[in-house]
Amino acid sequence: MNDIEEKRGALAQGLQQFLAYCDQAEALITSKAVSASPQMDFSSLVDSILPLPLDKDAPEGATMKQLQRMVSECTRCPLCETRTHTVFGEGVLPARLLIIGESPGSEEDASGRAFVGRAGQYLDTWLNPVGLSRKTNVYLANIIKCRPPENRNPHVEEVASCLPYVKRQIQLVKPELILLVGGVASKALLETDEGVGKLRGRFHRYEGVPVLVTYHPAGVLRNEDLKRPVWEDIKKVAAFLNLSLPGNAK
Ligand code: URA
Repeated sequence: MNDIEEKRGALAQGLQQFLAYCDQAEALITSKAVSASPQMDFSSLVDSILPLPLDKDAPEGATMKQLQRMVSECTRCPLCETRTHTVFGEGVLPARLLIIGESPGSEEDASGRAFVGRAGQYLDTWLNPVGLSRKTNVYLANIIKCRPPENRNPHVEEVASCLPYVKRQIQLVKPELILLVGGVASKALLETDEGVGKLRGRFHRYEGVPVLVTYHPAGVLRNEDLKRPVWEDIKKVAAFLNLSLPGNAK
């Protein structure tokens, strides 16, 4: 273990110890038995107090700005040779909801912005009725930051190359809830082979953050039958985030 890792470990232990002292102080002041605070995850606090030195190949510990720059210069997989722009993601920080899609399409590749094409505009129509939008409380990103040629599905090695960026992005966005749209995002983040049909309708967890799964807007544009299940999923999102449904919605 190197010096900075030792210091980070000691800091996390110190913070936990501080909680224990607070428990003891509370017990003394109130003269009541106080149950011990549970073991806490201090990783975000440790990152902000003692960030890891930045290494071009290690997104862990990067700030959002540093991460965005790493992505824009990334050559980890062959998609860097065919992309016009990397598509990092955009929205509000911290976000109540983080939506993770598959990969940029042609409009996203041309503009460098996530979910601005037809599927993205359709996605906005799912969100706006329940008071969600990238301008106020949502962050939008993709598992893959570069467009695969001809919009083919990303290869497993491409997903593996991009995943460390997405994982750091999740830590930085600090969402209350993650919504994975489509099979590529769901399989990659939940490390499963199950399809959306099996995964949707219940809560999963990614590093302690609740996760819901629904169909990809591009798939719903191709298949009207998926509209109803998507609306059920959006209602679940709204209920979790304590958002009200539009009048008379069922
Ligand atoms: N489809 C996605 O999954 N992401 C985008 O940004 C656009 C279309």
